[in-house]
Formats: sequence, C-alpha cells, structure tokens
Amino acid sequence: MRYHLVTLGCQMNKSDSERLRHVIEEMGFIWAEKEEDADLLGLVACSVRQKAIDKVYTKINKWNKLKHKKNLVSFVTGCVLPADRDKFLKLFDLVFQISELAQFPAMLSQYGVSTPFRLQMDQELELPEFTKQESTKADFTQLSFDNKTTITGKPVMMNKADDRIESFWDIKPTYNSDFEAFIPIQNGCDKFCTYCAVPFTRGREISRPSDEIIAEAKRLIEDGYKSITLLGQNVNSYGLDKKGDEITFAELLRKIGEMGDASGKDFWVYFTSPHPQDMGDDVIEAIAAHRCLAKQIHLPLQSGDDKMLIRMNRSHNLNDYRRIVQSIRRLIPEATLFTDIIVGFTGETDEQYENTRKALAEFKFNMAYIARYSVRPGARSARWADDVPHAIKKHRLHDLSALLAEHSLDYNKTLIGTEQKILVVQKDRKGRHLSGVNEGKIIVRFASNDETLIGKFVKVKVTSVVDFATEGELIKVYEEENIEA
Ligand code: SF4
Repeated sequence: MRYHLVTLGCQMNKSDSERLRHVIEEMGFIWAEKEEDADLLGLVACSVRQKAIDKVYTKINKWNKLKHKKNLVSFVTGCVLPADRDKFLKLFDLVFQISELAQFPAMLSQYGVSTPFRLQMDQELELPEFTKQESTKADFTQLSFDNKTTITGKPVMMNKADDRIESFWDIKPTYNSDFEAFIPIQNGCDKFCTYCAVPFTRGREISRPSDEIIAEAKRLIEDGYKSITLLGQNVNSYGLDKKGDEITFAELLRKIGEMGDASGKDFWVYFTSPHPQDMGDDVIEAIAAHRCLAKQIHLPLQSGDDKMLIRMNRSHNLNDYRRIVQSIRRLIPEATLFTDIIVGFTGETDEQYENTRKALAEFKFNMAYIARYSVRPGARSARWADDVPHAIKKHRLHDLSALLAEHSLDYNKTLIGTEQKILVVQKDRKGRHLSGVNEGKIIVRFASNDETLIGKFVKVKVTSVVDFATEGELIKVYEEENIEA
C-alpha cells in the first residue's frame, strides 16, 4: 500500500510532516510519487492564509474524484482553525490534530483499513476512550483496504486538547534531508499578534522537555547533520510555560552549545523564530560563547512604527528592538541579521510606512521577508477593514525590497576576496553550478557539477556579488568531522 503527503505552510508544518511520515511508514505504507498511485492521501494544512485554504479544497476535490476509481482514505491535519475543521469533516475521511499523531494507526484501523502493520499485530491497538465513543456514534464499516467494496465509514474527527503533544514529540521523525534537520522545541503561541491565527490553530504555548531536545540534537550530531534548526513559534519564550520547572531558552542554547563544541563534529545550530519581547542578552551571550551556535539571528520586526506595533499587539516598540540590535552588534559583531516585515497592515498610513522604511535603513538587515498584509481568517485583524489599497501595498513592498537589496549588496560586497566556509545545499537547474550558505546564511554560488558535494562543507573564494547572493570559486572540500574555520 502506498501513501502520498502534501505539506503546506511554514517550516513548523514541514517538521511535523517528518514525524507524520515516520508513523505512516511504520504502518507499512511506502511513498507514492503520484497522488493517483496512493491508497492513503494526506494533507498537512495551513490556515494562516486564504490561499493555503483554497489549496486544501483544490486537493480534496481532486482526491474525492479519484475515489470513483479506487478505494482510498484521505486525511487532513496541521494548522486548522475550528471553523475550517468542521468544513473539512464533510470532505476528508479523517481530520485530526497533529498532537494526536500517536493515535493515527488506531484511527486508520478504526476506519476499516487493515494495514500490514495492523495485520502483524498480535494484540489489539489500544484505542483512546474518546475514539471508542466516536466509533459507536459513527457506525463504521469494517473493511479490508484491498477489497473492492466502497468505503462507507463516516468521517472521523479526533478532537482532544493539545495535551497529546508530548506523545507527538516522542515520535522519531523521518527527516527529509540527511544533512539539514529541524527540532521542534515547543508548540503553540501565547502572543496573539492581531494578524496571526497560530494561537487559534496550534493552541497555547507548550515547551518540549529539554532532555528530549538535547537527546534529539545529540543523535543528529552523531549522525553527521550539518545544519540543525531549533523550531517554535516563539523559541525564546521556551520554558516560561513550565513556571521555573524547565530551563530557559538561553540555558537550552548553552547546553546544546557545550555538547556540540565538545563533540568534535562540524555543524551549525540555528533557531527560528524568536520574539523581541523575550530576547535578552543571555540568549545573545550564549550564541557568542559557542562555536557551533550559528552567528545568524532572525528577529521579526514586523513594523517600524510604534502605533502599528501596538495595533499588531507585538508587545515591543522600536526602541526595544533597537536595544536588542545594539546588543547583537556589540556581543556578536559578525552576526548577520534577518527579519520579517508586513506592509499595508490595516490602517497603515504613509507616515507609518515611512517609519518602517527608516527602521530598515537603520538596521541594515541582511535579509527581510517582506509580506503584503492579507487577511488571515481567524486572526483578530480579520474583523478590521483591510483598508490599504492593493496598489499602495504593492508599491510599499517594491520600495522596501529595493532598499533591502541595496543593503544586502553593500554587505555582500564586503565578502569579495574572502574565503567562506559553505554548506552546499543544492545544484542549479542547468546542473552547472552548486549553491550553499555560509554560517550567516548568505547564499554563495560556485561552478561545479559535482553533486556529491551537496550536504558537505566546502571553502569558496568570493569573487562577485549578485542580488541577494554572492558567487565564487571552489577552493577546497572539508574532510568529514574536520573542524576548521
Ligand atoms: S508571535 Fe505572533 S506572529 Fe508569531 S506565532 Fe505568535 S501570534 Fe503568530
């Protein structure tokens, strides 16, 4: 039996789907490149933007047509608003929260699917209480998956609170890459920015136990991973939900840093995304103190105007942000700085936009992910008028992007003539160049068709710059586990 999985949205969803793949493969399913060849079709959804929701409907309409030709089961999980969940129940066979992943084999067997895993089991799967109740109500038809009878069971919705996230973290992921990996360190968010629906789709913040995070990092380091990213909606508020029973984010970084530096292995550890509210000097000092903690910080600003920041419920003002940047420049002068910005948020005036422009000019970010505001269903701002005209949003986006390109170019020019250590991540479409990133995540491209270099550290002499990237010549390939600057 085969499965196909579609993952929409952010890095967190991609990380979640690595655990989902593991559970599905443990049940005996193998990957199907084409949806048409799959018996199990799954979607990790994102409710943050309407575009992503539209994609869910396009997919399920297609999959439901496939059901006329063959027996298959469809499911949806991920970031789903309660209102969308109710609609999805009418379209998908299974709807569940990602925190309920450990129960997925039970859900599937309850639906009437006999997986190879299920057939091999000598003992019955332990179904959670609420599943048994749902089962009675829904009157499921028990079917063997490969018989020709149409599956007539009604949709299953697992709908318990996110207290199951701990068992989700226990699941070993099937990583999508053998050199880059993401470690979830928390789930949910307590910040309630007015433009964001995450606190309603993922729920309140829950920190993963630090010993599990450190153990997962240790395994990845031993397996030779070169780039490890600690992942969460608000990584630097890590531990605060445990009221002193868990270490802080700075302490977590230090523990990983100590372990990593002592390992003798060569790799970089990143984190995303922090919130300015919880960004103390202790976090910056930890990054400065450990070789393996990458000198690159992604710190979302969102707006350079204090009134807009209040309207966004960002709980920091421009001065707070400025103080953090000053600390970064003082404690880690070589660090690169990335950010996120929204233009055309509801009510944004020309003057307020101008303040964002000034902030961009002041902080000289190496990279900024600039988004035009669009209504995110479920977010508080969805109740407010989306009153900045499309053309003005477009203009602001282009204007800021042009300014960002100037700063990026100025910085990248300083790299000309230097030798950069690069993690090679991909080849270009024509197969004549490879590209990678330095520790600060500046893109470096060089001529080579040697695909065996992907996933390795190499040294490149930078010779020129292009928009948001540099180009250079390959000088050497680092030996595995040989730590060199
Ligand atoms: S910090 Fe704000 S933008 Fe980030 S996940 Fe939480 S509510 Fe959304």
